Amino acid sequence: MALSGQNLIGQLASTGQNGHIWGINAATGEKLEPAYGGATLEDLERACALANSAFNAYRETAADVRAGFLETIAQNILDLGDELIERCMIETGLPRARIEGERGRTVGQLRLFASVVRSGDYLDARIDPAQPDRKPLPRVDLRLRNIALGPVAVFGASNFPLAFSVAGGDTASALAAGCPVIVKAHSAHPGTCELVGRALQKAVKAHALPEGTFSLLFDSGRNVGQGLVADKRIKAVGFTGSRGGGTALMHIAANRPEPIPVYAEMSSINPVLLLPQALQARAETIAQAFITALGMGAGQFCTSPGLVLAVESPGLARFLDSAAQALANSPAQTMLTPGIYKSYCQGVEAFKRHPQVTQVAEGQAGGTHQGQAALFSVVGADFLQDESLRAEVFGSASLVVRCDSPAQLQAVVESLEGQLTASVHLADGDRELARRLLPMLELKAGRILANGFGTGVEVGHAMVHGGPFPSTSDPRSTSVGSLAIARFLRPVSYQDLPQELLPEALQDANPAGVPQRIDGQLNRL
Ligand code: NAP
Repeated sequence: MALSGQNLIGQLASTGQNGHIWGINAATGEKLEPAYGGATLEDLERACALANSAFNAYRETAADVRAGFLETIAQNILDLGDELIERCMIETGLPRARIEGERGRTVGQLRLFASVVRSGDYLDARIDPAQPDRKPLPRVDLRLRNIALGPVAVFGASNFPLAFSVAGGDTASALAAGCPVIVKAHSAHPGTCELVGRALQKAVKAHALPEGTFSLLFDSGRNVGQGLVADKRIKAVGFTGSRGGGTALMHIAANRPEPIPVYAEMSSINPVLLLPQALQARAETIAQAFITALGMGAGQFCTSPGLVLAVESPGLARFLDSAAQALANSPAQTMLTPGIYKSYCQGVEAFKRHPQVTQVAEGQAGGTHQGQAALFSVVGADFLQDESLRAEVFGSASLVVRCDSPAQLQAVVESLEGQLTASVHLADGDRELARRLLPMLELKAGRILANGFGTGVEVGHAMVHGGPFPSTSDPRSTSVGSLAIARFLRPVSYQDLPQELLPEALQDANPAGVPQRIDGQLNRL
């Protein structure tokens, strides 16, 4: 399919007249054709009007129709074949195996949400039947189901050009919930955005859905993206990216006449706690696994292990030696964009210049746009004194905090901001310390792992990819896994409505066969 450089507004493809965006070859920095015409405010208006008019019809589509639509999107993405993989590799510098794996995850997510829609669980149908004879007062008939929030704006991330972009988790969960979606294309992979956007647009047509179910806009500045969040017809925002970008959108959403929720996944350094007995028993093995996790995707994972915490011991010294040796053999890797490469270099430089920080090791040097991995250390007391050491350095850099006691380790944990993940490496003799740390970690992170690293996020029913601010803007939610649909739903109660006026999911006859919780007891047909 020839790339057109156009915005996809409903079923139309139109060339934006508001400046240009070019994809950039991540390895060479060269501009890639075609130029993408930035959407105008008129384009934004049209996309919002279409999404708004699509909403009522789309939100009430039958489960089979909506699930089939999600499955068709998945198939259309697969049908793009190598063209998608190759464009995505050029735009991001990520290797083929990684992009192919990510395509599998993206397709898997869409299919997971199709199954969620078919199951009807997400409706959370509840029925408290009337009790006319209850004393002293009769009980009313009260029924509840979740409904879709309304049109959703989605901002994808640069580091997951498929799984967190145009047809990624935010889009899949919003469409599953019954919300039309307008995606603001990421400027770091515009060609990938167009290809996936066309796969989505084709699926809308194939299922005869309202054309405003999906639109894709390219923004040559900030007006269109920010205007999208400010538009009164948009009812929620899904975002993955930088803390600065996420908080800017949170402010816009909060200051609208009608404020709306922003589900922003932003910044996390994912502490890894190495407990004493684990270090004594297997410092070298942990070090090897740590360096592998740190190097994944050039460290451009939201779950990359950016912070290691341990108590001074011979085991910690062995860990540092082994990690230094493994890191010295790590090749430099092409980073996603020149901007991300530059920020990474600045972050590493700041560690190098910091008077209390020591460089433990660095990876092999690379060419232009290639990030060189780096490992640093600092003592616990200095770490506690300097908040700047808690900031995310997006890439393969990590800081080891050498604590003088288990009490200081706990103080360091207390000092951390919200995180997507926290890992604990432990052996049998560490159980007591782990028991004290776990309640603290629960308050800091959305996912706690034993003897592993947060990289590699399973897409399932029990996954939480979220956490307290700044890892996300709303710690009650996840952006990965089936629970992500809850972000785009709200509950409505129906009191004393006649059966024929009730939504099907709440009727006694239950024609759609959805699970119903009747007087607190879950009934599955
Ligand atoms: P980003 O720069 O925040 O961009 C994400 C999206 O938001 C893009 O579409 C971008 O538009 C838009 N955007 C950014 N700032 C905006 C603003 N002020 N107003 C309106 N729209 C705005 O994020 P990124 O490019 O994916 O990655 C850069 C940084 O994000 C990394 O250095 C890393 O720190 C962080 N990151 C964190 C995670 C995580 O999960 N923790 C994941 C990915 C990235 P443009 O396309 O026009 O720039």
